[in-house]
Amino acid sequence: MAKAKKGPRQPIGLQCSVCKAFGYVSTYNKNNELLKKQTSGESIFPINKYCKVCRKRTPHRLMKKLK
Ligand SMILES: [Zn+2]
Repeated sequence: MAKAKKGPRQPIGLQCSVCKAFGYVSTYNKNNELLKKQTSGESIFPINKYCKVCRKRTPHRLMKKLK
């Protein structure tokens, strides 16, 4: 039984900022970002992720809407 839980984890899309290819659908924990913002003053984005198109790790940006 899968329950739809409301929690801090948000579904997001990640897009390669180099080739603009859509890379990942993922989730992230909003609390982690808030925590990092509080400690270092920086956002967790862009995230370095492996891009299949570039075939290397590139900065990935958060896509605005995932629906
Ligand atoms: Zn790429």
